[in-house]
Amino acid sequence: MTEINIRNPGIGNRTTQFLTGLPNAAGYLKIVEDLRKKKVLNEYSAFCFNLRGFGDVSRMYGQKEGDRIIKEYAIALENFLEPGEWAGHLGEDSFTALVKKTHRDSFIDFLAGVSVNVHAGDRKERVRIDAAAGVWDITGTVEDSREVIRRPSIALSHARHVLHQSVSFVTDEMVSSQSRSKNVLVGFRDALEHEEFYVYYQPKVDSRTGLLVGAEGLVRWKHNGEIVSPGIFIPPLEQSGEIRLLDYFVLQKTCTDILRWQAQGLEPVTVSVNFSRKDLEDPQLAENINNIIEECGVDKRLIEVEVTETVDTEEHGSLTEFIQKLYDMGIRTAIDDFGSGYSSLSTLREFAAHTLKIDRSFINTDDFSWKDEVILTGIVKIAEKLSMNVLIEGVEREDQLVFANNAGCYVIQGFYYDRPLPVEDFEKRLANKQYGK
Ligand code: C2E
Ligand code: MG
Ligand code: MG
Repeated sequence: MTEINIRNPGIGNRTTQFLTGLPNAAGYLKIVEDLRKKKVLNEYSAFCFNLRGFGDVSRMYGQKEGDRIIKEYAIALENFLEPGEWAGHLGEDSFTALVKKTHRDSFIDFLAGVSVNVHAGDRKERVRIDAAAGVWDITGTVEDSREVIRRPSIALSHARHVLHQSVSFVTDEMVSSQSRSKNVLVGFRDALEHEEFYVYYQPKVDSRTGLLVGAEGLVRWKHNGEIVSPGIFIPPLEQSGEIRLLDYFVLQKTCTDILRWQAQGLEPVTVSVNFSRKDLEDPQLAENINNIIEECGVDKRLIEVEVTETVDTEEHGSLTEFIQKLYDMGIRTAIDDFGSGYSSLSTLREFAAHTLKIDRSFINTDDFSWKDEVILTGIVKIAEKLSMNVLIEGVEREDQLVFANNAGCYVIQGFYYDRPLPVEDFEKRLANKQYGK
């Protein structure tokens, strides 16, 4: 195997990355193949990792400085590894490593914060760069060297998009869900064309009067006679960016359903539809939503657009702008899943949203503490003072309803009243809006 001098990478060759001089994908696979033939791969943990927020650093300090930081990072990486351990650089901020299993945990600690110098004009600062990593503790016979990159990269994608945490270890379930995702992506366009997607409507009920006051449109995929839940097909569609097509479809379908109800003499309620944060990548998103509603000719007050919060500052900016645009167009918005994961009070201050949907995690417990009650009551009060409507999701039991009511939250969406219903069943609720309970 060639010795790699990363301090003098030169222009690189076919097996090294030109910037850092670390093995590139081809070079790294050669190393893996060598270890595989020696039958020692089982001594290793295989890593794939990305430097978090590196895009921001590059944008802030310029590409040249970004490249220099990557080189410095690569040197720190090489220095950390022990003899017989290997790193690879797949390009940009994407790296791989083969680390002895005994050294794996300290490598994870290392990835949590590598100090590098940043030159900002005349100033020189130390910045800690952390990485998101996927890990495979290699076991069994490895038939194909590419598995040593593929498996940890599945875990990496899981860490970033599903678990929202820095490190994730690959599981068999992740690997099979990866192939399920592939099937989703292959089948999606056909399914859309062949009308395999349906919108179910889940009632929202005012618990003070027992009246149906709204609904949420939730997508379902009827595939080979089975109903596939959004949890399966939405994540891959979000990753591929195709979720937008589905979200436009759901909005369109909801609008035509509302018009049909009116034509049948049923008095409709406001229906909310979900838009993924990924959809914000379309700069025309608000305009397209407005066009769909206006072309259908539905009263704008009968539609509400649901979005979830975000911790990403860039996304936060485009979300604020999106909500404001819809507000100016007279389209209502709701903040979905408020209080799940990272929530921030600035969301309430900055978003011109009409409705706050409080996440079920607030009531998804068997014993409510006084702290739960204080927090929920406080949120409801703040939202009301900001003239927002408040709703709580996921109420299944009487005690949860009582708890929500005590906190001042009366509009309920949950199995306690109804599950998401096929349109024919929902029409029956529209015909008689009074709930018995
Ligand atoms: P969400 O928007 O927060 O929708 C509420 C979810 O909670 C629904 O799951 C609903 O069935 C479930 N739910 C309602 N009441 C209860 C309850 O009392 N207990 C429990 N355990 N669950 C309850 P569903 O339909 O599986 O949808 C899951 C998520 O998928 C949605 O969460 C939403 O984020 C996403 N989704 C659904 N339809 C669409 C869509 O058309 N576009 C996009 N982008 N996302 C969608
Ligand atoms: Mg929702
Ligand atoms: Mg929700």
